[in-house]
Amino acid sequence: MTVELQHIRAARERIAGKVERTPCVVSQSLSDRAGHPVHLKLEHHQTTGAFKLRGASNAIAALSAEEKSRGVVAASTGNHGRALAHTAKLEGIRAVICMSRLVPENKLDAIRRLGAEVRIIGNSQDDAQQEVDRLAAEEGLIMLPPFDHPDIVAGQGTLGLEVMEQVPDTAAVLVPLSGGGLAAGVAAAVKGVSRGTKVIGISMTRGAAMKASLDAGRPVQVEELLTLADSLGGGIGLDNRLTFAMCRSLLDDVVLLSEDEIAAGIRHAYEQEREIVEGAGAVGIGALLAGKIKAKGPVVAILSGRNIDMALHRKIVCGEVSSRTERAA
Ligand SMILES: *Cc1c(COP(=O)(O)O)cnc(C)c1O
Repeated sequence: MTVELQHIRAARERIAGKVERTPCVVSQSLSDRAGHPVHLKLEHHQTTGAFKLRGASNAIAALSAEEKSRGVVAASTGNHGRALAHTAKLEGIRAVICMSRLVPENKLDAIRRLGAEVRIIGNSQDDAQQEVDRLAAEEGLIMLPPFDHPDIVAGQGTLGLEVMEQVPDTAAVLVPLSGGGLAAGVAAAVKGVSRGTKVIGISMTRGAAMKASLDAGRPVQVEELLTLADSLGGGIGLDNRLTFAMCRSLLDDVVLLSEDEIAAGIRHAYEQEREIVEGAGAVGIGALLAGKIKAKGPVVAILSGRNIDMALHRKIVCGEVSSRTERAA
């Protein structure tokens, strides 16, 4: 099983009018530093504050009327749940979102406000997944996982199509990487259009499940840790069907960032670009600032989300969060 350009083009037709086409702008300060153009894909301006709406709306649109009537269930680090809740509300269907205690309060509140049922289970995405499995088995809800599903990957891939239309001569695309739905979809789109363009995944050092799995040659489990890039937490699933193989064949490299480097990305986004991004959305900028990206032409960094707790954001831009990982009190 894989997702190809044709599936991503079909997804784009299916979700037209349901998601925003987000702007892609030049960053003067990052271009000056890099010596080549650096573009920022402002996907954190997407409805619901993250790209996850692309996959969620594509997956729900692909359900039959009978499946819709049963409702949907998913585990989430927050943004997938919010995207599903948003789409489920528009469609008038039931949504149950299962999350671990690591998910920040601001993300829970947003999901509850959209009318979805929230279940908090355990300390990891894996714990939350067990509740998802139970609800699917006992109540017949349709599972729509956050990344390892062809309709989700195809939906996220529509972001890659936009990038290649907005910056056709892109040498490298920097993609925040967790379970790999975004990276797999974007890489399939980008390489389907422009074979030579590099796609580089970026994760945090604290709990980089896809990187550990790629190194091991098979999906492996890593301990889930608190990180400023909370949307990048969680495993890839030991029974991963789709995104592991796609990331293995399509990604040119994976770069890891320290908490300080992620914080620097959030700060730069705010002070230089006047953009509020969450940790996961700042890793492309963080990697560029850290000198970890070697590219010979225009680079596009995807700013994937903005759903950060604003008290934490204030601490970061004031320099009060450094190497210690902490939550806003
Ligand atoms: C989910 C998410 C990611 C990672 O996406 P995957 O498909 O799990 O790799 C990156 N950034 C943000 C803001 C997210 O919500």
